[in-house]
Amino acid sequence: MIEICEVGPRDGLQNECKLIPTAQKVELIHRLIDAGIRNIEAVSFVNPKVVPQMADAEEVLSQLPKDLGVRYGGLVLSRSGLERALKTDVEFLHVVTTTSDSFNLKNVKRTVNDSVTELTPVIKEGIQSDRKIVGVLGTAFGCPFEGEVQLAHVLQVAEKFLEAGCSELTLADTTGMANPAQVQNVVNAFFSTFGPDLTLGLHFHNTRGLGLANTLAGYQAGVKKFDSSIAGLGGCPFAPKAVGNVCTEDMVNMFHGMKIETNANLEKLVETSKWMEEVMGRSLDGMLIKAGIA
Ligand code: ZN
Repeated sequence: MIEICEVGPRDGLQNECKLIPTAQKVELIHRLIDAGIRNIEAVSFVNPKVVPQMADAEEVLSQLPKDLGVRYGGLVLSRSGLERALKTDVEFLHVVTTTSDSFNLKNVKRTVNDSVTELTPVIKEGIQSDRKIVGVLGTAFGCPFEGEVQLAHVLQVAEKFLEAGCSELTLADTTGMANPAQVQNVVNAFFSTFGPDLTLGLHFHNTRGLGLANTLAGYQAGVKKFDSSIAGLGGCPFAPKAVGNVCTEDMVNMFHGMKIETNANLEKLVETSKWMEEVMGRSLDGMLIKAGIA
């Protein structure tokens, strides 16, 4: 059994240039729920001047259906993000730092150590306010500015997040640099360092075409939780280096073909992707939208 965390409404849309109205974001989430998705990273609590697509985070959350057994999450990079999140009823928070100083300085203007220092009380306060906190380690498989990110360093940051109280960790391949052998190696190191009971998720981008291969490598190394994005959303046509997440319906198709359950309805996911293409006004990256279900 695989647990999917659908990140299309956040990571996907955030990397699309076209601004999507609140009502269509809410409709997207309705459609995902109807297709069986139960974990949805719905919004990001970041500076709306930097990320205009996420400016309506509170509005989106207030319009989502409740009591359907669906967990909604939001992304937090700083204390100000936490303060906004705690004014909403969002259930889980993805608290993110990258693990490369160069990337982190460009992204949030702080070193990794400074991010960890700021985020430690953020994690603790989130837990005190009854939110589930997932620590997300970006650039865990490589940094576009520094190249290799030392595994020992990624493990150190992970240890600090776990000490602060994170109940789960997600390793993110922010710019799509991972390969399957590396994924296996990193996942093995995490389970041997923190024990087999660690809840570990993986977040891949398909930047270099290895998204599903990396997903499979992670699964074979024991991971059961994967982030993905409907239709592979997230490739802004005006920013050629921005490529979307692993495509949700392509991933579900792979797992179902392997007789591994996901609880998702593949037909409804593909319908949602086709609807999403109409919303975005262009063809999207997923393969199943084009090929159809076999
Ligand atoms: Zn991402």
